[in-house]
Amino acid sequence: MNFLQSQDPEIWKAMEAEATRQQDGLEMIASENYTSPAVMEAAGSVLTNKYAEGYPGRRYYGGCEHVDVVETLAIERAKQLFGAEAANVQPHSGSQANTAVYLAALEVGDTVLGLDLAQGGHLTHGMKLNISGRLYNFQSYGVDAKNHRLDFDQIAKLAREQKPKMIVAGASAYPREIPHDRFAEIAEEVGAKLMVDMAHYAGLVASGQHNSPVPYADYVTTTTHKTLRGPRSGLILCKQEHLKLVNRNVFPGTQGGPLMHVIAGKAVCFAEAMTDDFKAYGKAVVENAKVLADTLMQAGLPLVSGGTDNHLMLVDVTAVDLGGKKAEAVLDQCGITVNMNMIPFDTRKPMDPSGIRIGTPALTTRGMGSDEMKRVGAWIYQGLSNPDDTSLHESIRNEIRELCKSFPVPAERQLA
Ligand code: PLP
Repeated sequence: MNFLQSQDPEIWKAMEAEATRQQDGLEMIASENYTSPAVMEAAGSVLTNKYAEGYPGRRYYGGCEHVDVVETLAIERAKQLFGAEAANVQPHSGSQANTAVYLAALEVGDTVLGLDLAQGGHLTHGMKLNISGRLYNFQSYGVDAKNHRLDFDQIAKLAREQKPKMIVAGASAYPREIPHDRFAEIAEEVGAKLMVDMAHYAGLVASGQHNSPVPYADYVTTTTHKTLRGPRSGLILCKQEHLKLVNRNVFPGTQGGPLMHVIAGKAVCFAEAMTDDFKAYGKAVVENAKVLADTLMQAGLPLVSGGTDNHLMLVDVTAVDLGGKKAEAVLDQCGITVNMNMIPFDTRKPMDPSGIRIGTPALTTRGMGSDEMKRVGAWIYQGLSNPDDTSLHESIRNEIRELCKSFPVPAERQLA
């Protein structure tokens, strides 16, 4: 840090402020987490200096003998962690991973089924402005209007009518466990490939808290920075028979040189995710989410689907006469970071929807448990039901700052 501080104080100051924000507030964005200091060290290392186009043993640059070791370890650990036949650890992000699989498995114009963005899907599952929606004929499936669970009758009907080349399972805002076996049955019936994007719940799969898509899917993609708690990046797992085309469509299909420093961070993360500590963390993420969900519902805040099975929940804030935009801003004032989110069958607009999405991974990583979740739930309810009471928000903020002192973020723990 000393080099940066003296050479570029403007950037250093913003980074310091961000470090303080991460320490002093409650990070409850469901897709965020705190990496370990070891992951940070790998990601901020000399490996950033190295070009390594190609794959281990088959590079287009000299001097790759050490990064070959790193990438091979990352591949082997990813396979071991998830019980997969093959892995590509080079995608720079979850979106890159999805795009490479589409290019490997589909022709432009092919029909694909994906979860509606407005009902919990991701941009890369066929949103019109995304490359997925521009190159392929994505048809959206959704959730049941009454119970907000994936509507498998509708998915099977759509699959029979549309005869898709691929079905994409996985979500960004779905609070329930995803039954991969049911997707696999439908895909098999209509002769479609199955891709599961487990970006949100990969850490729960790794820790045994969510069923694994690996036995069911032709391709599994994920980000590595959400529940999995690694560096900001992507990963593809697949059957051996698909590896050649997957590799070709990551490099040179959609990317140039791999980010070897980030691949090192991923390798460290995969090893961490095989430990008993990580299993305990995964269990606590889900337990914390249940306690928080119960606390919010008992206080009178309705949740989409009436609860959660995983690391996140969607709160319908119209119950306290708010929109998602104001709710996000109020909680920000209180020191709680969340994001506004559409809820199924939302009648409001994406820029001010009816819901907020709340997740427990980051607080769990800090060591918080059910007692803290009950306090956090009470603060969320108090804040949202008094949206214009700025002195209340300030006093919640102070209490949160105090609480956070007892739960240092991992980087702070290292410095201490
Ligand atoms: N897939 C899902 C289900 C996601 O939730 C996300 C990110 O939020 C992505 C893919 C994309 O990941 P990235 O932001 O790394 O491109």
